[in-house]
Amino acid sequence: MQERVPNMSIAEAPLPAGISDAAPRHDWPREELRTLFDLPLSELLFRAQSIHRENFDPAAVQISTLLSIKTGGCPEDCAYCPQSAQYDTGVRAEKLMPLDAVLAEARAACAAGAGRFCMGAAWRSPKDRDLDAVCAMIEGVKALGLETCATLGMLTAAQAAKLKAAGLDYYNHNLDSSPEFYGEIITTRIYDDRLQTLEYVRAAGIHVCCGGIVGMGETREDRVGMIATLANLPAHPESVPINMLVSVAGTPLGDAPALDALEFVRTVAVARIAMPKSMVRLSAGRETMSEETQALCFLAGANSIFCGPKLLTTPNPEHDRDRSLMDRLGLSPMR
Ligand code: SF4
Repeated sequence: MQERVPNMSIAEAPLPAGISDAAPRHDWPREELRTLFDLPLSELLFRAQSIHRENFDPAAVQISTLLSIKTGGCPEDCAYCPQSAQYDTGVRAEKLMPLDAVLAEARAACAAGAGRFCMGAAWRSPKDRDLDAVCAMIEGVKALGLETCATLGMLTAAQAAKLKAAGLDYYNHNLDSSPEFYGEIITTRIYDDRLQTLEYVRAAGIHVCCGGIVGMGETREDRVGMIATLANLPAHPESVPINMLVSVAGTPLGDAPALDALEFVRTVAVARIAMPKSMVRLSAGRETMSEETQALCFLAGANSIFCGPKLLTTPNPEHDRDRSLMDRLGLSPMR
């Protein structure tokens, strides 16, 4: 069911600090974010776009490619994930890809205009011998002139330091949702485990990529809570992926009702306002998202996408489709 947008006077809503203050805030009360969510859409988009323009070229979009370097067989029980070994989704458990195959994919991504190459492995946490192989991939991808990102599950401080030494630029570890809703979708680890890994990544000097998923049956208050947690981290994640749930048959969320597209746009806009200097990325869910919704997301301050026909195991728009959309919107790849 679509959630009601209260009829709030624009004057009642506080002006986001980014308009007058260039320094990002880390003290966002939920009430203030709730008020932003409740604004008339045109006002919310105006504010988000104003802040976006203060911090970024509004016509530039950062393009990343995501490759699953180790697919399926994950022991975790994330309710949205087709790679969990606990659900029958038809995704087979595979071994870690060999180095040369990963580098071939990275070369293709580079040729297609990607600036960052993200490598994802379906692990609870990496084993040390696997980490050595991933470090070799990071070194190889960096040598191609691409930024590197990895998402490998929970890390220890020593593993984070090792990835940094290999040249890793970004580590992705999503908070997924609010602290209150997290237990509804994952039981094999707790929210604080996620925060701990983020601390290790940050302490190792690796940029943080951290966001969440909407459309999992959470309430707007959960979306507020997720953004409040992200925006009140000691440093904002440099990249904030906002994913729309891709319902996969066989997972507990296989029949989840679709979230209103405009609620997704609102989530992007509030993330942009609360984290004015972060790259806000449209991630999963673009395959079935209308081009008009994506255009609204760019207007709301999204400035990063994943390109390529697959996002780990789920479909994503082909390069040609994205190129055509970007041309029609007058957007260019960020350099
Ligand atoms: S989201 Fe990651 S940790 Fe969770 S089941 Fe999927 S691969 Fe495993």
